[in-house]
Amino acid sequence: MTYFNLIRIIAFSFLITLVACGKEEQIQLNKEYQGVEAELWSYFEKFEAEAAERGMAIDLATAGITGSIEKIHAHGTVGLCNHRLDQPNHVVIDIDFWTTASDNAKEMIIFHELGHCYLERGHNDAKNSDGTCASIMRSGRGGCIDFYTSANKNDYLNELYTEGSSN
Ligand SMILES: [Zn+2]
Repeated sequence: MTYFNLIRIIAFSFLITLVACGKEEQIQLNKEYQGVEAELWSYFEKFEAEAAERGMAIDLATAGITGSIEKIHAHGTVGLCNHRLDQPNHVVIDIDFWTTASDNAKEMIIFHELGHCYLERGHNDAKNSDGTCASIMRSGRGGCIDFYTSANKNDYLNELYTEGSSN
């Protein structure tokens, strides 16, 4: 390979990266969720994207799912799916949790609440042999250990959407 060809390949790769990033940004800017606090939008969008990767078409905005970040007074509760007349499927995330949690923890809790609000799932406290939770739909009182990380979230997401569609 000549030096010139190498430069061309690097320049081309760089261009592809730019185009790819630009496209992603455009999608994010176009997507709006009425009645959902803007900080939650990217997680709502990811919930739809993960479903799409598994062959499920989900549109949370059309489904009327709303959401907010506020103080939850129930002890130990970091997320809720509320059913009010004016907001029948409203995700609430606790503000104290929100300001300190990692991105994966936020994603897990939001996806859990969307599991209730959109997928209409109940709780599942099944455990893996190592004591970790088999589902992110765990109640939090079932004694299993949360283990939603970048490395293993794929299994949890498969479980989330597959169980949701069969129930
Ligand atoms: Zn729950």
